[in-house]
Amino acid sequence: MAVTCRTICDIMEGIAPGALAMDYDNVGLLVGDLDASVDRVLVALEVTQDVIDEAVRLGADMIVTHHPLMLRPVGRLTKGAGDAGLAYRLAREGICHFAAHTNLDIAPGGVNDALAARLGLKNVRRLQPYYEKGYRKLVVFVPPTHAQKVREALFAAGAGRIGAYGKCSFSVTGRGTFEVPKDAKPYLGAPGNFEQVEEIRLETIVPGYLLDAAVAEMLRVHPYEAPAYDVYALEACPEGMGLGRAGDLTTPMALSAFARLAARALGCEGVRVAGDETALVACAAVCGGSGNGLVDAAARQGAGAFVTGELKHSECLRAAELGVGVILAGHYSTEAVVLPELIRHLQNGLDTLEYTVELVLSGHSHELRWIGGE
Ligand SMILES: [Zn+2]
Repeated sequence: MAVTCRTICDIMEGIAPGALAMDYDNVGLLVGDLDASVDRVLVALEVTQDVIDEAVRLGADMIVTHHPLMLRPVGRLTKGAGDAGLAYRLAREGICHFAAHTNLDIAPGGVNDALAARLGLKNVRRLQPYYEKGYRKLVVFVPPTHAQKVREALFAAGAGRIGAYGKCSFSVTGRGTFEVPKDAKPYLGAPGNFEQVEEIRLETIVPGYLLDAAVAEMLRVHPYEAPAYDVYALEACPEGMGLGRAGDLTTPMALSAFARLAARALGCEGVRVAGDETALVACAAVCGGSGNGLVDAAARQGAGAFVTGELKHSECLRAAELGVGVILAGHYSTEAVVLPELIRHLQNGLDTLEYTVELVLSGHSHELRWIGGE
């Protein structure tokens, strides 16, 4: 059966929901046609002219990447250098482009989990919760006859999951009041009347990124013309989701030894290090790409090392001051570890649907190279 671009996009949505992406981001299908048929997908960290050349050579219909094109809006699509030129060329070649960026950083099984796994870390946990996408408490007032229907609709939309437990909710019966407008067609009561009815206050929890979908489902099955509901932001975040990861080393070792291990594991020519090289590292923090802004979280987690792609000089100094050794392994090397995982997840999704699509890992590395002084 012919697979469409839409199928690949849907599987990717299951791997890294687009709603998890940070507000500034640009994710999802960025170039192409959802209905285009797809036989071959090239998986790369980013779209460049050499990656497009590779896709053309392979006959790939789609390029799935971590870094998106057009992160900043483009005003024109014309041939030439830059994202606009790349997007223009993709469109001309009939190649779709899909990106999962910060949503793939945050999602369980994404960039940071792949990086932690590559470094052999155990007991992996998130480095910092991402409160903007954290839990919301959703409270809705519903007549007893419809409480179970509304509850089930919310659960089906992803509400009510706490850790390994599903379908979590709380309800209490009370008395609701309302005055019916004269021109209304109410589910309960008569136009113009002040009504008092028995209602159930039904509450459950929903991850922020699923809130809109859950509210839409609740409104769809709720019998009232104008259901009353409240949304509260909670200081809690779904398990496994967040910025960066922290984990324990199987065997504690000196920062210098862990730095060499990281260079080998990530296939780097070398890594740059800040901090006391003899200090023993038992726990490490990781963040693929840029780790700016996460040094304090690494210190709070008791990490003796922070493995990331790049970090501002001032943040390196701050980390060393806090006793967190810095290991800079390059932006590309700390993120490309997710690509084989992405292919594995995509393959699982395709196998489940019994679809056949060839998934190809790009042969291009865009890591900066080291040249030593004479
Ligand atoms: Zn990146």
